[in-house]
Amino acid sequence: MFSYTEIRQIAKDVSEAAKKSKNAELLDQVLDLKAVLLDLMDQNQNLKDEIRDLRDQVANLSNIQIQRDSVVKFHDMFVDKDKLKTIKGAFRPYRDELLEHMYCSKCLQDKDKKISMNLFRQSVSNNYTLVCPSCGSKVIFDHRY
Ligand SMILES: [Zn+2]
Repeated sequence: MFSYTEIRQIAKDVSEAAKKSKNAELLDQVLDLKAVLLDLMDQNQNLKDEIRDLRDQVANLSNIQIQRDSVVKFHDMFVDKDKLKTIKGAFRPYRDELLEHMYCSKCLQDKDKKISMNLFRQSVSNNYTLVCPSCGSKVIFDHRY
């Protein structure tokens, strides 16, 4: 395949040769051809840029998919699949090590962000609440469950 520089050089050489030939019709046609060539090179470059951008987007989307695949729904949150058993069997309130693996479902769904829940304990009742530090979504656990 020719590089852009080579194609430009060929176009230049051909128009030089056409000029020397003193054939006005040939020179006209060569100049037309040159314009078409430059236009095609432009289009080609734009397509290359577009393909690169699309590839980036696809890579991004598959990252998000991987992120979604690694979590499961638990109450109104998402939790890491491999921690679900531990979380289900754990005493509440959850320890910080487990809260790190429990994510706000709203932030994950709306913004594709994994935001770990924080513990918000009510002083009077035995109920307690997990709250998202980013959007403020709450998950309330009744002490009976
Ligand atoms: Zn949130």
